[in-house]
Amino acid sequence: MSDAKYYPRWRRDVILLAAVVVLAAALQFSVFKAGTQASEAVVTAHGETVVRLALGTDTIYTYEFEEETNEIVVENGGVFIRRANCKGQDCVRQGRIDRAGQSIVCLPHKLIIELAMTDANEPEIDIIVR
Ligand SMILES: [Zn+2]
Repeated sequence: MSDAKYYPRWRRDVILLAAVVVLAAALQFSVFKAGTQASEAVVTAHGETVVRLALGTDTIYTYEFEEETNEIVVENGGVFIRRANCKGQDCVRQGRIDRAGQSIVCLPHKLIIELAMTDANEPEIDIIVR
């Protein structure tokens, strides 16, 4: 236990405190992120990304895999599953999501829709390019 000799108790406390502060900041950041407007919906099925839908454009994407169908609607910056032929219809009932970090899951179809932020600097770059 040579560490105890080289690092007095108060110093260990400071290190511990710093770690707690960093952790708290990280948590706060993730909460902040979850509350921010999402910019794209990432559709994953059977463990693979099927499509990325930009939330800025209203669209309907119909996911089809063998007998499985999910009608995914992007509307006014949010996304929801309007129709599905899965058992239980849980994904349809989950309703609309529009915040980064939120997701809709269709368990029977192994389908996940996750909302994510794209590059936050994008709008600024657009302005510079223009
Ligand atoms: Zn479903």
